Amino acid sequence: MPIYQYDCAGCQKRVEVFFRSVSRVSDPACPECGGRDLTRAVSRIARARSVGEAIDSIDFNQELGRLEGKDERAFSRWARRMGEQYDGALGTDFGDLAAQADSGLDPSARADVAFTLQNKISRAKERFTSDSGDSGDAGAGGG
Ligand SMILES: [Zn+2]
Repeated sequence: MPIYQYDCAGCQKRVEVFFRSVSRVSDPACPECGGRDLTRAVSRIARARSVGEAIDSIDFNQELGRLEGKDERAFSRWARRMGEQYDGALGTDFGDLAAQADSGLDPSARADVAFTLQNKISRAKERFTSDSGDSGDAGAGGG
């Protein structure tokens, strides 16, 4: 059921209007005063992109492809960018990685790094996607 926020010119309030279906969205009335002079407000909910979505949008293979045969500077730039976006949310160490690359990370270590990060990201994905709704299986995991 779609919910939209409107600014009502009649009562000067920001109101939420519920619609029974998307096809009925066209002619909203203010639930407070019944006025029809409503301006669609940009929903905060829609703007706050969830961390889960952000993680989902990482195309890791593509990101790794960009690193193929790249030098340290390119690698550190990449790691720094990823760190700014994801370190806080995922608990990853892209920031550290960037620093290591700056001080001369062995290129062969990148493969390990990539594997570790991919692991962390997929774990984070699971965590965020299983966050909503109760999961039946509280598995005995961990080693
Ligand atoms: Zn109103």
